[in-house]
Amino acid sequence: MFYSDELLDEIRLQNDIVSVVSEYLPLKQKGGSYFGLCPFHSESTPSFSVNADKQFYYCFGCGAGGDVFTFIMQMENCSFLEAIETLAKRGGVKLPEPKNAEFFLEKERLNNKLIEIHRQAGLFYYSALQDNKGEIARKYLEKRQISPKIQKKFGLGFSDNSRNSLYLYLKDKGFSNDEMVLSGLIMRDKNGNGFYDRFYNRIMFPIFDLNGKPIAFGGRIISSGEPKYLNSPETPIFSKSRNLFGLNLAKKERPSEIIIVEGYMDMISLYQAGFHNVAASLGTAFNKEHANSIKKVSSNVILLFDSDEAGERAVLRAIPVLISSGINVRICQVTNAKDPDEFIKTYGVKEFAKLIYNSLDHISFQINCIKKNYNLNNPDHKIKFTSEAANLLSSVENTIERDVFIKNVSSLTGVSEDAIKTEINKTISRQEKNFMTEAEKKRLKIRNDNISSAIKKSKGLIEAQRDILYICASYPDIFKEIKKFLSPFEFSEDIYKKMATIIYELNEKDEKILPTKLIQNFDTIEDQRLATEVFAVNIKYNNLEDMEKAINSEVVLIKQSYINSVSSSSSDINEINNLISEISKLKNLDIKIKK
Ligand SMILES: [Zn+2]
Repeated sequence: MFYSDELLDEIRLQNDIVSVVSEYLPLKQKGGSYFGLCPFHSESTPSFSVNADKQFYYCFGCGAGGDVFTFIMQMENCSFLEAIETLAKRGGVKLPEPKNAEFFLEKERLNNKLIEIHRQAGLFYYSALQDNKGEIARKYLEKRQISPKIQKKFGLGFSDNSRNSLYLYLKDKGFSNDEMVLSGLIMRDKNGNGFYDRFYNRIMFPIFDLNGKPIAFGGRIISSGEPKYLNSPETPIFSKSRNLFGLNLAKKERPSEIIIVEGYMDMISLYQAGFHNVAASLGTAFNKEHANSIKKVSSNVILLFDSDEAGERAVLRAIPVLISSGINVRICQVTNAKDPDEFIKTYGVKEFAKLIYNSLDHISFQINCIKKNYNLNNPDHKIKFTSEAANLLSSVENTIERDVFIKNVSSLTGVSEDAIKTEINKTISRQEKNFMTEAEKKRLKIRNDNISSAIKKSKGLIEAQRDILYICASYPDIFKEIKKFLSPFEFSEDIYKKMATIIYELNEKDEKILPTKLIQNFDTIEDQRLATEVFAVNIKYNNLEDMEKAINSEVVLIKQSYINSVSSSSSDINEINNLISEISKLKNLDIKIKK
């Protein structure tokens, strides 16, 4: 490891696991733990727990678990080192230069190269828009009323219909074929020898990262043809599920809220009209990564989508993604125009400002969407609508806010506020009850059938080892008794042997044993998960007597299994005799827990 334990501790201290996890998913406090829906498997009741005290997380559903570093590794699909970097940055901890920086340098060198390719391509496309061949594109932009000043501001360009002009240009600038292909702007032909441009005959929109570096392009076809819009493919520097068009410009404004639109033209057109807090999604369904990028700019979002049904569906899908990332969402629907671009050109800036001002909170928007499915003059529909609305309102945590919505639903339906409230409370307590029974069921299930497919030993033995490790880590006094009878090498799995060794050592040094301390000794996510499990899935004993009984039988089980495995591989008669006498001694094993 490049970094010292002290440094890792400092990073951990600055990144409370509850607040880090909360950036990805909402958590509800239940007793000493926080619960939420697991991001690593699909589920409808929360079995993902975060222990604020011990700073680890564990999912009772799928067994995912670890500390704040493991969480980032799993969530961002990155290495331990990258997780350290991310969290150090988040927590404002300065990292020293790693000793082995070659890997990072190589990655950075490549990324810089790819950005340079995009910079050059941007210049190439920009000048193509200005020269003779670009006339058709200039005419198009003129028709769309994009001023030359704005064209320049956004670095708009043109890719002509020659199939390899960019390739030849970049080659002339000294980039290698491999680099160009990796950039996504150049493609290899089928037999792998020839090269051609990905974009041709399109208006080019450069896409920038949050720091204003060009990382991709979007291209709109000039004449007829498909697809109308084409984006760069995924590359080491670009992902369309992370990057948004124009977000870099919005960031400069430090906006209190940000308007998210669907298309390049909408974004540019609003910007030109003076709304600089705008960004466009790049034609993919909204996901957590988008939400994370947006959150770096503002945590208040206005979703401004097209007035058609597809637009409405996109909004309904985006709402929970944004909400679960802690973003406040309002919805603005374009009326009497097909998209924001058309609206602002038809009705002007003032009307557009009004439209934005009248954005709906997301609950009202969703209630309106539900309402469309029902005819409220029909009593049966009225009941169904009210209970669907009540179900939605049960997710509103602020009671004042909830009351306002209850009033609205009541006046829509004529159902009394009290009746709606009762319905909501029923839903809430049903959800709570489901949650608790599900969580408990899952907890028991894990206790009973060993969740690790990697370990196919007897269930009892695995559980016994986990329990003993947990007890040794949590109760130093009992540890002193256990160690008289059980040694780390007698544990049956490498991972438990290693854990036992560490726990024994820390105990000898009188150090408090923190799960996070233990977890950092393991490199792979699977090992970190197994180590976390020891702390997450532990038995609650009714009394000391039960605990003592359990400890004794578990230690016997572990020792017996160890002796069995050694004797089955031994051919030395003396050793076997010794082992047999060891086994007979087990009957008299008696670990006492001091009161
Ligand atoms: Zn899970």
